Amino acid sequence: MRFESGPAPRRKTHAVRIGDVVVGGGAPIVVQSMTNTDTADVEATVAQVASLARAGSELVRITVDRAEAAAAVPHIRDRLAAMAIEVPLVGDFHYIGHKLLAEHPACAEALAKYRINPGNVGFRDKRDSQFAAMVEIAARNGAAVRIGVNWGSLDQELLTRLMDDNARLAEPAEPRFVMYEAMNRSALDSAARAEELGLSADRIVLSAKVSQVQDLVAVYTDLAERSGYALHLGLTEAGMGSKGIVASSAAMAILLQRGIGDTIRVSLTPEPGGDRAREVVVAQEILQTLGLRTFLPVVAACPGCGRTTSTTFQELARSIEDMIREKMPDWRRRYPGVETLKLAVMGCIVNGPGESKHADIGISLPGTGEAPAAPVFVDGAKVATLRGATLAADFTRMVEDYVERRYGAGGGK
Ligand code: SF4
Repeated sequence: MRFESGPAPRRKTHAVRIGDVVVGGGAPIVVQSMTNTDTADVEATVAQVASLARAGSELVRITVDRAEAAAAVPHIRDRLAAMAIEVPLVGDFHYIGHKLLAEHPACAEALAKYRINPGNVGFRDKRDSQFAAMVEIAARNGAAVRIGVNWGSLDQELLTRLMDDNARLAEPAEPRFVMYEAMNRSALDSAARAEELGLSADRIVLSAKVSQVQDLVAVYTDLAERSGYALHLGLTEAGMGSKGIVASSAAMAILLQRGIGDTIRVSLTPEPGGDRAREVVVAQEILQTLGLRTFLPVVAACPGCGRTTSTTFQELARSIEDMIREKMPDWRRRYPGVETLKLAVMGCIVNGPGESKHADIGISLPGTGEAPAAPVFVDGAKVATLRGATLAADFTRMVEDYVERRYGAGGGK
């Protein structure tokens, strides 16, 4: 029998050390995120970085857009350190990054990586000198640099030149291909310039973000073929809710399956009052569902159907998911390997017992017309039947006991 077996081998890239985190060089794909607080507001930014880091963000990017924000950065770093949160901070610079980094050396020192957008670092002669100033400060501080091209702020001089050259060809390429080329040329030329200025290839990460799935796949596939730099994947302006999640998942899944991508960020527009950490959860879920990393126990739950007319099943599936997320920071510390746990919460007898037996611990709730009893399976064998008002609490306790037994100090099933 011949089956395709999993993702293509990861593309070989330079390994970039950012604080204690390694991006590329075969290291596990890193999850990152970005705050949406005013960085000058130390309190709010510390709280959001802490929340993103606790959710599992391994790098957190913050906006550094003006002097007050740059002045706040070392205080944010110190406050996080006092909370034992060591997540590396990345500074997002546009337009005046050279000035902010030069005038705020403590900010330059506190950041583990600078994001430079070559499309808005300045015009003509100034572009070169301002880009050079940022790269030199990075090299001096041992910081990494992400050369982050974005099609919304693409270097217009370069794009115009390539469009003009293309128009003169006997058979011009489609304009979108010229745009792809301009993006990748901007990233690669800037990286070559950074190396000439003394930043080694193992301090450089590239990104070239667009907002459409097929454009992203085309751009990154080409970028991966043309360079050995570590790549940061992300669909820019992915959007809100399910649209943003689906678009990001579709784009990244194709590239990750091809072995392309060393760090990812899911750029979701938060719902009003929504949790910023959702982008971290989605990024982890993309990597975990592709089998590239394991972050959390998996809960297999059926979609429900006409056989599940009560909400008990949905409520139990939700409460188990919530319980796992809440307990994971503590479980990760106390129970090494717990992230590989497999649970099942199923709606009726049709697939319930079968799916529950495949899980480490699973419950098959009674569907409409079944006796009001829920068999629980542990390691493939039925061990109990739960019923009544305490069913959810009883099953939760059984999960916790199983985790302690299997992954605790005296564990091993
Ligand atoms: S396990 Fe039962 S309730 Fe769930 S989808 Fe299948 S038939 Fe419906």
